[in-house]
Amino acid sequence: MNEHANAALHCVDVLKHVCGDNDIYNDTPLCREIRKHLDHCPGCTNFLQSMNKTIELYQHYHPNVPADLHAKVVEALRHRTQDK
Ligand SMILES: [Zn+2]
Repeated sequence: MNEHANAALHCVDVLKHVCGDNDIYNDTPLCREIRKHLDHCPGCTNFLQSMNKTIELYQHYHPNVPADLHAKVVEALRHRTQDK
């Protein structure tokens, strides 16, 4: 489904990227789009902040962050964004 929100990227796209690499501050077109999205999407901004905290904590106790943590986070957000 291609709904056109007021952004090129959907929340889910942002989160997929963030959950995969966590490198939104790189100087690539995608990262720039993501930062633009974050500028007007408090939901993603909040999510990003709490996710970073969670991952930090997680890495503190587990050197390898398991992929299923990321998967769960993405899935949870996908459900939330699809509810709209
Ligand atoms: Zn968003």
